[in-house]
Amino acid sequence: MTSSPVILVLSALGMETALRIKADLPDATIHGLETRVEGADVNFNNFGETIRQHYQSGHAVIALCAAGITIRSLASVLGNKGAEPPVLAVADDGSAVVPLLGGTTGVNVLARRIAAILETVPAITTSGELRFGTCLLNPPPEFQLQNPEDAKTFIADLLAGKTVRIEGEAPWLEEARLPLDDNGELRILVTSSNVTPQKGELVFQLKTAAIEITASPKHKRGRLAVVGLGPGDPDFMIPAVKRELQRAEDILGYETYVRMAGHFRPDQTVHMTDNREEMRRARHAFELAATGRSVVMISSGDPGVFAMAAAVVETLHESDNPSWHAVELEILPGVSAAFAAASRSGALLGHDFCVLSLSDNLKPWDIVEKRIALAAEADLAMAFYNPISKPRPWQLPRAIEILRKYRNADTPIVLGRNIGRTAETIRVITLAELTPEQVDMRTVILVGSSLTRSFDRTDGGKWVYTPRWYGTKPEG
Ligand code: SAH
Repeated sequence: MTSSPVILVLSALGMETALRIKADLPDATIHGLETRVEGADVNFNNFGETIRQHYQSGHAVIALCAAGITIRSLASVLGNKGAEPPVLAVADDGSAVVPLLGGTTGVNVLARRIAAILETVPAITTSGELRFGTCLLNPPPEFQLQNPEDAKTFIADLLAGKTVRIEGEAPWLEEARLPLDDNGELRILVTSSNVTPQKGELVFQLKTAAIEITASPKHKRGRLAVVGLGPGDPDFMIPAVKRELQRAEDILGYETYVRMAGHFRPDQTVHMTDNREEMRRARHAFELAATGRSVVMISSGDPGVFAMAAAVVETLHESDNPSWHAVELEILPGVSAAFAAASRSGALLGHDFCVLSLSDNLKPWDIVEKRIALAAEADLAMAFYNPISKPRPWQLPRAIEILRKYRNADTPIVLGRNIGRTAETIRVITLAELTPEQVDMRTVILVGSSLTRSFDRTDGGKWVYTPRWYGTKPEG
């Protein structure tokens, strides 16, 4: 999923076009070249730096200038195709819309939408779009399309710009470049149950699973457990989770976590999933559980902390399928990264604290900044999850800058990396010493409050703690 679109404007004429686009894309922000453009939401001075920064932080970019300038400016950062957000060049008079990058993140959908706003035709060049029709209708032999008569309209709708959501696992569609969207109007349903296809839906029935279901005892109630593995070390996993992993018939999760969970028996089915598609994964879990199976959804740490539990409960809330509501749903907690890191180094979270994700993939960056500033002002200790990644290189430096406004240079910082896994490291430093280079996605950052202090331990490391009291130390 990409963040809100950024419209980059270089001329007064471009500004008029930008305003027309924004009227229909209200979550977009208009960034204007300071010397040429008036009335933008934000100003910039250097086009190249600005476009690279937004691209790398995952924002869809709509550049109101020549395709050549756009591509040349991004050339140095085009390495990672998988993560690229949509990038489009739009003629400043609104006459042409050219999707350039982001074939897998919906650039053509966005191009069609903008072209519709500007009453022009998008310059779609992706031949894969023309191919998905054949690919869609040719699943592997164990799947059967239930309603081939609806396929023609379905594909015409796709070509006309409708988006689609996939429920269940459709491996043959992975390369299909479908315009996927979790809230898509159209639906591709892959199921082992017998369902009547609805309007705007293609239903593929999984034949082998259907046989298994008839053989399983009738009225068995399905179960879905959303479990936290803890940070990695099996000793940090609660026994209820261990039992749940034993009883599971289906295990769903991101590959790294599935491997972390240990070995599974041949009679257990493991479904490795992509980390980004949370809602789709949650729907898949309910579909399996609704057939009477015992399903486990795996997260690292605690499943309720920046992980799958919320997506699962939200999916149930949004569903009016009685068989999903009948599933026995349980969330089993785990030791979250912040607690594991704090415990390794003493008790930095011993007084009031807050937990923040620095990722602006699912929330606007302004909110992240505001929360850091307010938490710092309130003198809370803090734990930062998702602190930095390749597409988000500038956010952590900005967070550090804000912290330094409110906290002394000698404030203790704990950097816990790969806690509970091989290659675990724990470092106690000060806010003055903290640099982004010491941090990666496998690190949790703990930030002390004004009362957090540290002292040497005999093994060469340091203990860090925040006292239980605040203000004056109580007697005794
Ligand atoms: N549900 C997880 C968090 C998932 S968000 C939990 O409760 O721990 C992913 C972020 O968690 C990472 O970017 C990192 O900041 C942190 N994290 C997860 N496991 C970690 C570990 N073993 N050591 C250090 N940080 C970890």
